[in-house]
Amino acid sequence: MPNPIYGITPFTLLDYPNHPACILWFAGCNMRCVYCYNPDIVLGKGKLSLQDTIRFLESRQALLQGVVFSGGECTLHPAIFPLARAAKDMGYRVKIDTNGTKPHVLKKLLDEQLIDYIALDFKGIGKKHENITQSGTFSTFSTSLALLQSAGISFEIRTTWHSTLLTQDDISTMIAYLEQHDYQGDYFIQYFMNHVETLETLPYAQHILDIGHLSTTDIRVKIRNGLS
Ligand code: SF4
Repeated sequence: MPNPIYGITPFTLLDYPNHPACILWFAGCNMRCVYCYNPDIVLGKGKLSLQDTIRFLESRQALLQGVVFSGGECTLHPAIFPLARAAKDMGYRVKIDTNGTKPHVLKKLLDEQLIDYIALDFKGIGKKHENITQSGTFSTFSTSLALLQSAGISFEIRTTWHSTLLTQDDISTMIAYLEQHDYQGDYFIQYFMNHVETLETLPYAQHILDIGHLSTTDIRVKIRNGLS
């Protein structure tokens, strides 16, 4: 098995809601989002083996409560299963950051009760999704959304927003899509961070999204960062 992990962030208070955690950065991705902040991880190879990573988790058991599986796209790696099992055996809470393209992997993880929390990316709808991700994977998003809803697991939906890639109307359409699919919960908008290396060079993003009227009875729209 190729090394699954590109690197580890040993401590974060920001990436797992209410729990001190570490982040495992899985190498590689099946999308090429133009705004991706992690080109090295997406295009690079893993540096840490399964055993290296398990040893790291063992060494942090007394200090941390959670492990975030991020990347890249963690669900592409067969190593996600032994890593999640090892983390659960050690008493960690496991969070998965995913682009939603592997619903069958999510299902197996859920069936084995290996996940405590999921952050599911909502890139856009139809052609917008295609343009942003440079992939034809939109149908997998709706499959993953339906799966998470039926599983009853805690999860959130999040969108990275760049003013030239998604308009205010696009965001309204995406919220309407979530409503039509009976989503109830938080919908996080993450402003694109200017001045960070990305997969493609993008124009400066203007952060002028008006979310005042976007929340619905069931969907709470929130800005996760106020970066400019
Ligand atoms: S932003 Fe896109 S390309 Fe980058 S890791 Fe996430 S899904 Fe992959």
